[in-house]
Amino acid sequence: MLGGGPAGLSAAWELACGGARVLVVEREDDTGGLCRTHVRDGYRFDMGGHRFITADRELLDRVVALAGKDLLLAERTSEVALLGKRFKYPLEPRDLLEKLPPQLAVRALASFLRQRLRPRKAPKSFEDWATQRFGRVLYELFLGPYTEKVWGVAPSQLSPEWAPQRISFRNLSEVARTLLRRRSNNPQRTYAKTFLYPRLGMGQLFTRVREAAEGAGAEVLCGSTVAGFEVEGGRVVAARLNTPQGPARVACDWVLSTIPLPSLVGLVDPSLAASLGQRLPFRPVRFLNLGLRAAKVLPTTWRYVGEGGLRAGRLQEPNKRSLAMAPSGRSSLMVEIPYALGDEIDGLSDRDLLARIRRELEALEVPLEDDPPVVFSVRAPEAYPVHMRDATSARDAAFARLAPLENLRSFGRQGSFRFVFSDASMRMGLVAASGVLSERLATNHELSRVQSRRTLTEVASLVNAGTLAPGG
Ligand SMILES: Cc1cc2nc3c(=O)[nH]c(=O)nc-3n(C[C@H](O)[C@H](O)[C@H](O)COP(=O)(O)OP(=O)(O)OC[C@H]3O[C@@H](n4cnc5c(N)ncnc54)[C@H](O)[C@@H]3O)c2cc1C
Repeated sequence: MLGGGPAGLSAAWELACGGARVLVVEREDDTGGLCRTHVRDGYRFDMGGHRFITADRELLDRVVALAGKDLLLAERTSEVALLGKRFKYPLEPRDLLEKLPPQLAVRALASFLRQRLRPRKAPKSFEDWATQRFGRVLYELFLGPYTEKVWGVAPSQLSPEWAPQRISFRNLSEVARTLLRRRSNNPQRTYAKTFLYPRLGMGQLFTRVREAAEGAGAEVLCGSTVAGFEVEGGRVVAARLNTPQGPARVACDWVLSTIPLPSLVGLVDPSLAASLGQRLPFRPVRFLNLGLRAAKVLPTTWRYVGEGGLRAGRLQEPNKRSLAMAPSGRSSLMVEIPYALGDEIDGLSDRDLLARIRRELEALEVPLEDDPPVVFSVRAPEAYPVHMRDATSARDAAFARLAPLENLRSFGRQGSFRFVFSDASMRMGLVAASGVLSERLATNHELSRVQSRRTLTEVASLVNAGTLAPGG
């Protein structure tokens, strides 16, 4: 099993319970992947604001059985900082129109209505998709700059495919109806405001999954990567590993991989690695974690930073989800900062990053004490799979290169190169594992289509609620 995030750990759990011998090979010094929780001096920080929410009943039952007494029901409260104001999040057209400067509000409404009258063409990019639905003024005000900040790519270069998963205000007639009615008259509002959250952070859930896997006999090897495969007759018969104890060779019947798809293909065909890496890039995020003496920082759990000129993408106050995320009577702040390898943000020390972000927090009117007792940052090099316009054909090319190896599969968020949440990654792991156990393993394409039903449900309910929501 390559990668010890939610997908890899879930697969290991299922496989070990089914009687298979499993070795999880994880690059970092601990498992959990993007769902890890880092702890310093009693302050706990997820890698970005995580929440567990799913419409997958069987998965939910498993999670509750595993972590039930530590699962809290938390409520989502979010806002967007834009033009020196704070807007409701998910964005609501009525709130936007009330708070935007009147001339801008009129222009936004006019451009939105103009779009409505135009015949809809198939969008070629995220920019097309968003302007067709919201009008150019709203696009240029928020969706365009925010998208470019988070993904690091001009929205005209991004595929429109992922948009419905992140931007959920899709249906123009719903938008128009929403513009004309008060929110309180909207009985259909079903947007998932509440979510499950482990008391000690999202990582606690995946510590439990790891414990369950290890309890059933799985082994976990951290600080290790795979350097290559030995292939015989179309099957991987062994993996060569780099471990803290030195190189190792592990014989195997199956290889289930959740490491980034271009890295896996690079192990099989190094000549493809560079071009695939460009076509299937990941956007790194640096999380600046600040343990504070203050008891409270933000009015909401999440604040999206809509201002394109600021590098911070989102602010979170972790103890809004669980009071155990900070020492008693204290709070903390986490700032998500998307970056590019080698750029200014990447090169700053934690203290210099704090100085840089302090200026942004002042601009956002977020009070920050002079000398926070805890300051550290964590980097996620593969935080977001960036869906460029040719992502589908690049993914197909990658899967085609892997297909001749009949006992190797790639899945999970990085391994399928899909913008999925932890519940979908867990489900992919469970499906892959039961395929191995029954010797009827789904193809890479089939595994990559195991999507979170929650995503679809949220889209549907957001449309009903008339809200506009870039997702987590
Ligand atoms: C900012 C942010 C907010 C999010 N919010 C939510 C949320 O609210 N709710 C939610 O459900 N999901 C959320 N997600 C998504 C969630 O984190 C992922 O869906 C989930 O972690 C994916 O699990 P995975 O196992 O597929 O991948 P990962 O978690 O990325 O795990 C992959 C693992 O593979 C390891 N690895 C990589 N390369 C190698 C290698 N060469 N050798 C060995 N190991 C390797 C990595 O270290 C990692 O541990 C969020 C993600 C981000 C970035």
